[in-house]
Amino acid sequence: MSSAIRTTRLPGRDDVPVLGQGTWGLGERPARRADEVAALRLGLDLGMTLIDTAEMYGDGGAEEVVGEAVSGRRDEVFIVGKVLPTHASRLGVVTACDHSLRRLRTDRIDLYLLHWRLGTPLAETVAGFEALKAAGKIRHWGVSNFDTADMVELAGVADGRNVQTDQVLYNLRRRGIEYDLLPWCRERAIPVMAYSPVEQGVLAGDGRLARIADRHGVSRSQIALAWVLRQDGVIAIPRASRSEHVRENRAAHDIRLAPADLQELDRAFPPPAGKQPLEMI
Ligand code: NAP
Repeated sequence: MSSAIRTTRLPGRDDVPVLGQGTWGLGERPARRADEVAALRLGLDLGMTLIDTAEMYGDGGAEEVVGEAVSGRRDEVFIVGKVLPTHASRLGVVTACDHSLRRLRTDRIDLYLLHWRLGTPLAETVAGFEALKAAGKIRHWGVSNFDTADMVELAGVADGRNVQTDQVLYNLRRRGIEYDLLPWCRERAIPVMAYSPVEQGVLAGDGRLARIADRHGVSRSQIALAWVLRQDGVIAIPRASRSEHVRENRAAHDIRLAPADLQELDRAFPPPAGKQPLEMI
């Protein structure tokens, strides 16, 4: 029997599962919708109750799929939403959030992120997020694709320290954050949310993972995911629209990589030796 999914604590004191579900690419093809809803529901049944979505995905279509998947079980789910930087003004975030809430068929988003940074002053976006919090439309807010310097700047604006997470690209092939961003967040007990943890499926075909996968009797993707989940303070949000992938990802949570496995992975995918600018997909 598999163990319960570990949780990590956000600064706002919510405990969230370290393994959630992504939704980029969902809600784009009506013929696939039923399967997408079923995959998300299966993930919920298996304990992956954090769902990451964004107004950008499928132009709102992914949020509609999430809305259908969580209908009747909203209280089990921790919904992470994202606002486009073109909607990041104080009033813009409020309007965008209202639209997202309608598509999600809910009255609140648990964690609302700025998808990436563009020209809007951070203080303005944060003021909009705080207004949404006060109105009960979001419970917490955070950011995405922020490098260390952006986080430092954010910490300096009014209420900027209420940030709950930075959602960034992190997987075996993209380890740059280990040099500075991950330690910076860890020192402040801010969990990092790792997106594209299997590099959009690419790691499933990476031969460097074959030996370890065989040793554990699992797939290469599962090793890649177990590696992201090996440390505290990191939440992974793989997307799986196929049920076999959902089950595999859930099982990856229970894989324990041995020190020898981790050393082998370090040789194949070296950690950063210096500062690397944050990568984005
Ligand atoms: P990903 O989760 O690394 O990879 C998704 C791809 O891998 C899909 O094609 C999926 O196939 C496949 N896959 C999943 N589990 C697998 C398994 N066990 N074995 C083999 N293949 C597997 O990439 P992602 O979708 O880019 O990232 C995850 C989520 O992070 C997104 O969905 C989104 O919610 C979020 N994200 C955020 C940002 C941002 O800027 N904040 C950027 C990118 C992504 P199937 O779907 O066919 O099952």
